[in-house]
Amino acid sequence: ALKITEECINCDVCEPECPNNAISMGTEIYVIDPSKCTECVGHFDEPQCQQVCPVECIPLNLEYIETRTQLLEKYHKLVAHK
Ligand code: SF4
Ligand code: SF4
Repeated sequence: ALKITEECINCDVCEPECPNNAISMGTEIYVIDPSKCTECVGHFDEPQCQQVCPVECIPLNLEYIETRTQLLEKYHKLVAHK
């Protein structure tokens, strides 16, 4: 999963780009729900939020390191729940 750092300027552009609805407004800045972020695996070649963020504040969440296989499994589970 990816995470949003405190550099976030609340510009709102990433939230609608997330195919998994993993991004939402937190108490002060936007946050990514790691249980929903597949790093865009299954949907796109590149993480869409990273592509649009003007301040590049969306790095890998080091507390949730996942393999591509795990990310794909998460994608399949999320799609099944839709
Ligand atoms: Fe959503 Fe993709 Fe960003 Fe994860 S990497 S938060 S799935 S847009
Ligand atoms: Fe914050 Fe970047 Fe998302 Fe804008 S695109 S709300 S700066 S994380």
